[in-house]
Amino acid sequence: MAHVFEQASSGRAKCRGCGQVIARGEWRFGERLPNPFAEGEMTLWFHPLCAAYKRPEAVLERLAEGAADVPDAAALERAARGNSVERRLPRVDGAERASSGQAKCRHCKQRIEKGGWRIRLVFYEEGQFAAGGFIHLDCRQDYFEGHDVLEPLLHFSANLSDDERAELMRAYGAEPGRAPSR
Ligand SMILES: [Zn+2]
Ligand SMILES: [Zn+2]
Repeated sequence: MAHVFEQASSGRAKCRGCGQVIARGEWRFGERLPNPFAEGEMTLWFHPLCAAYKRPEAVLERLAEGAADVPDAAALERAARGNSVERRLPRVDGAERASSGQAKCRHCKQRIEKGGWRIRLVFYEEGQFAAGGFIHLDCRQDYFEGHDVLEPLLHFSANLSDDERAELMRAYGAEPGRAPSR
């Protein structure tokens, strides 16, 4: 079966991209995959924009088939195209201040100081997302080959307060108001 955009018939599924429940009646994207554990297929459910950022190829595949009546299809396509140009971009899972000084940056291998901004990474493999550590916010240029990650970074940082988001944008060097806030 092909990937699907549809309105959720129940409010039980959690989005694989952000971990939040997909409310009944809300639009969702279903990525169909061969089931690694049994016969047949499995479906991974996402909010449409979460899928565009984390599974861009699957979203583009579905959009290319046409007649996707999902709202904001053009914005979804833009997000998916943006994140499909470099294999590391779909790893962005949000930003946070380091809760301890223990973790090392996956890019420069130096410790990330307590309280410093870091980008969470996730790795996708065969239908599973696994936590993949962190990089310094300031290592993003090198790690992502110069690609801008502000929009997915803010999108997957829904647990930050408005003040923290403003601080993150300052630390990122972004103009206030450049990216959509919540
Ligand atoms: Zn989501
Ligand atoms: Zn680093």
